[in-house]
Parts: sequence; structure tokens; C-alpha cells
Amino acid sequence: MTHAKSYAAQTPTSSLAPWNFERREVGAHDVQFDINYCGVCHSDLHQIRNEWFPGIFPMVPGHEVVGKVTKIGGAVKKFKVGDLVGVGCLVDSCRGCENCKQGLEQYCTVGAVPTYNGMGKDSLPTYGGYSNIMVVHEDFTLRISEKISLAAAAPLLCAGITTYSPLRHWKIGKGHRLAVLGLGGLGHMAVKFGAAFGAEVTVLSTSASKEAEAKKLGAHKFVLTSDPAQAKSVKGYFDFIIDTVSAEHDFRFYLSMLKTNGTHILVGLPSKALEIQPFSIVGGRKSVAGSSIGGLPETQEMLDYCAEHNIVSDIELIDIKDINQAYERMVKGDVRYRFVIDMATL
Ligand code: NAP
Ligand code: ZN
Ligand code: ZN
Repeated sequence: MTHAKSYAAQTPTSSLAPWNFERREVGAHDVQFDINYCGVCHSDLHQIRNEWFPGIFPMVPGHEVVGKVTKIGGAVKKFKVGDLVGVGCLVDSCRGCENCKQGLEQYCTVGAVPTYNGMGKDSLPTYGGYSNIMVVHEDFTLRISEKISLAAAAPLLCAGITTYSPLRHWKIGKGHRLAVLGLGGLGHMAVKFGAAFGAEVTVLSTSASKEAEAKKLGAHKFVLTSDPAQAKSVKGYFDFIIDTVSAEHDFRFYLSMLKTNGTHILVGLPSKALEIQPFSIVGGRKSVAGSSIGGLPETQEMLDYCAEHNIVSDIELIDIKDINQAYERMVKGDVRYRFVIDMATL
């Protein structure tokens, strides 16, 4: 076993604090790397607070992990010591089901192994990227180009792929009016990808202060949803809404902004059940859909696309000791647009 340092939550009500644990030895197919940076996803907060389901504690969050390879197993083919690598939300899956065979490991019918708050195939809990080292099977390790900023690339591993994947799946681009609901970590990546793919992008936000930045990120329009006149101006307007909101919100209000045949794609994961009035989708033959992260092949495709088009996250680099305040700011929507932890401060 190898000693690892981390920040962990000991219970669903505690703050994150230093905690030491053991990582497995490097197996034949494993890659070990030093973690340089880890992004802070709203899912980290949902999980340490048990907002989705009872978690496994102590919990070391973090699934936007990037670093440099320090050791490889004897059978590793894709990586060498010194390579820049990333790990997202998954570290294993069954590899044999219909979805795994198609590279849709996120929909593994047996159950993929999450990077933290899950059980590995060795029946040990998985621990995430708010730590100094990681050991991951090479098949679940991704290549990061030297061309892009490593710290700003970290959020691509979750916020990036979670927005890239549905935009590709629904072939959203030229000729489409896309609304990005919520301008946070996921939302700002949806704006960048939507604009890069040629869609007309509108940000639907509760924060007036984000208007100028939304345009700089590539949005063509900005709608402050609390202003009735602005909200009315986009009634029946969009082909797609990509919904990144982390808290409860009124679906009828947003569904009214879709055109006939429009699709509301949920990627945000508020903990409460949705309330959707039948009339709000039956009337315009509208769809409500969902999408989860992305599989390994598509995540690599997205990372390569970002390197080629120089797309990264807009980040605020923080010390690990400031993680609890960062969570408080994230809940208030006060993040521009992703916190990334500098792991050198651990
Ligand atoms: P985030 O950075 O906190 O962004 C969420 C944004 O939603 C906020 O910045 C805010 O934007 C808006 N918002 C917050 N509360 C709202 C409310 N009550 N009504 C309307 N808008 C509100 O969070 P994130 O990291 O992007 O994650 C967003 C959600 O996606 C979380 O639930 C997370 O768990 C989930 N997630 C899902 C997947 C997946 O695979 N599907 C992957 C990663 C994350 P404005 O200030 O612009 O209003
Ligand atoms: Zn995430
Ligand atoms: Zn599977």
C-alpha cells in the first residue's frame, strides 16, 4: 500500500479536514500519478452532505483530477512516466455489458465504479482527487495535451464532458437556439461548447452580475429569469435547454421557453423529485431528457477537441484549506466559473 494525504469529510455534517489513508499498490494495468490540480464540482457537495443517497465515510471527494504519471504497471501500454493524465468520474466498470462495449461506461448496467463514494472491485471504498496521489487502471486514465493549461483543463473531466456529451448526442449546432440554464461550472462549459458548435447560445440566469461575462464566454444573449419582460421575450423560443441547475426550480416556467418539438436536457441533479405538469410538455410535443457525464472514448475525444480548439475552464485557483468557504460560495452561485484546488497546498 502507498500512503496518501487528503482532505476528507468524516460525516455528512462535518467540514473537510486533513486525513491520511492508503492507496493500493500499482497493479500490472495501473497508472500511478501525482495529483497537481482537482476541480470542485457541485456533485462533491451533494455527496458529502448525503443529498442524493447515504454516502461512504470518510469521503474524499474530487473527480476532476489531473497530474503527472510517476509509476506504471508492467502491462501498461498507453502511458509512460512523466505523461500528463486525467481521471474523471469513473475508475472502473463491468466492461462486458452492452453499454460498456459501446464505450458508454457511464451507463454500465452492472454499475460503474465512481472515483469516490463507491466500492471498487476489490471491495474497498474509492477515494477521489482531493488528495496527493492516485492509482487508476490505464483504461480509465485519460491523456491531457501539453498544449492547454493543466489547472484549467481539470474541470473538463466532469463539467466539460457532462456538457459536451449531450450537445453531441442531440447534434446541437448551427441553426439551433440553445439555452444554457444556470451559469456555473457546467453552464459555462455548455456556453463554450454550444458556441464552438455553431448554435445561437442564450444564458438563462438568476444572476444579473453574470451578463457581461456570459457574452465573453461566447453567449449571444442573456436572460435574467427574474425579470418578467426578459423571460417573456424567449417564450416558445428554444430548440434545446441544457439545464445545469443544482437546486429545485420551476419546470413549467422553463418548458414554456421551448419551441414545438423542443427538448429540455437535464444534467443538473437537484435532490428532490421533479414536478412536471403534463400540459407543459403535451402541448408542444416537448421532451424532457437527461444525460450523465460521458464514456471514456467520448471523454478523450472531448479532451482532444479542447486541446485543438484551445477550450478550457475559467477557473479560480484555491488552496485546499479554503475548500469549505469555496463550497459556501458555490451554493450562492458565486463561482467564476470553477474552483480548482492547487494540490501543492495539501
Ligand atoms: P454550480 O457551479 O454550483 O452551478 C449551478 C448554477 O445553477 C449556479 O451557478 C446558478 O447559476 C444556478 N442556480 C443555482 N441555484 C439555482 C436556483 N435555485 N434556481 C435557478 N438557478 C439556480 O454547479 P455545477 O458544478 O455546475 O453542477 C450543477 C449540477 O449538475 C449539480 O446538481 C451537479 O451535481 C450536477 N452534475 C451532473 C452531472 C451529470 O453527469 N449529469 C455531472 C456533474 C454535475 P446562475 O447564477 O446563472 O443562476
Ligand atoms: Zn462532477
Ligand atoms: Zn458495464
